[in-house]
Amino acid sequence: MFRNFKTVPYVIFGRGCFNQLDSILSEKRSHPGSFMVFLVDDVFSENRFKDRILLKPEDLQLWVDVEEEPTTEYVDQLTELVRDFSDGLPSGVIGIGGGSTMDLAKALSLMLTNPGSSADYQGWDLIGNPAIYHVGIPTLSGTGAEVSRTTVLCGPDKKLGINSDYTVFDQIVLDPELIADAPADQRIYTGMDCYIHCVESLTGTYLNAFSESYGEKAISLCREVFLDRDPESDDKLMMASYFGGLSIACSQVGVCHALSYGLSFVLGTHHGIGNCLTFDHLKEYYPQGVEEFRQMMDKHGIELPRNSLPAVEEHEIEKMVDVASILEPLWENALGPDWKRIMPREKIKALYQGILG
Ligand code: NAD
Ligand code: ZN
Repeated sequence: MFRNFKTVPYVIFGRGCFNQLDSILSEKRSHPGSFMVFLVDDVFSENRFKDRILLKPEDLQLWVDVEEEPTTEYVDQLTELVRDFSDGLPSGVIGIGGGSTMDLAKALSLMLTNPGSSADYQGWDLIGNPAIYHVGIPTLSGTGAEVSRTTVLCGPDKKLGINSDYTVFDQIVLDPELIADAPADQRIYTGMDCYIHCVESLTGTYLNAFSESYGEKAISLCREVFLDRDPESDDKLMMASYFGGLSIACSQVGVCHALSYGLSFVLGTHHGIGNCLTFDHLKEYYPQGVEEFRQMMDKHGIELPRNSLPAVEEHEIEKMVDVASILEPLWENALGPDWKRIMPREKIKALYQGILG
């Protein structure tokens, strides 16, 4: 079966295009009493940028705390807040921030029209009702969350996305000026997420001409950004993230992402840095990718905090293996249909022991 996947229908790109947000949203403010919910990374709460977010008096702005990556519990709390704010549903949910904030916006837009807890929908195509109109506006580039059909959440017993066609944003606003002030180390960790998406897609067994075309372009943009220090690098990084996301949309990620989900679930390690710490140990699977990744880190003077992960107990490693093992498509993409024989539980555990040091 071929995948019939949905992509974002409306994309605006360019320096300063964020200023068009108000007019884009005005078309959706059709009926009296309609309001928008703006979910904004709270890193901007004390920043000049907040004055550029043009709220109407009827709108609701929620500053979100992404110190911890999104959880199903947090999504359920945000959903309750919006339900308490008004008897009616909002006309739109706008997420402004990095991958975490965009994922929270996607999840909120889904949960406002679907019953129960967001934890009930972690998996593939479990969502029954269309989401509220939702807009993604990245302030960090690399995750591809702006273009993907998932919102990655830590739930009570697993880290797994709500994957569905309804998850995909209706509109994205790609303004390279918004990523210009991200801290240098965060920019690299999130940028390396994109680089790793490309490596895992391009070396995977699910690769086809579609995913290869997007993946090749994205990886070459990553090289221009992270090895050549191109002056247009914010524009290029934003496009790399978008193309990298499209590449994995019709292929998959691989070993690094499967393992990093387990790390993140048990230790709360952030996605970007967790991927980097993991990828560094995967020379056996991605020899050229790991080599080039190290060059990129060196070029930017980023020392991987290799010994930063805490000591873990046996049952915690077992839990990491549980979380990684359920990500079957990732392993199959990386290692082929025979992946269960190639990568038995003991081998996954040994990989974790290497990463944890
Ligand atoms: P993030 O959103 O977690 O943000 C990281 C830090 O950077 C935060 O402290 C945030 O406040 C800060 N920040 C964001 N933009 C900033 C800016 N312009 N200036 C200053 N600080 C800024 O980081 P991320 O790497 O973009 O996202 C990681 C999240 O994305 C994880 O939760 C991961 O699971 C998720 N993810 C989702 C997908 C998807 O397809 N949905 C794919 C990959 C990763
Ligand atoms: Zn990723």
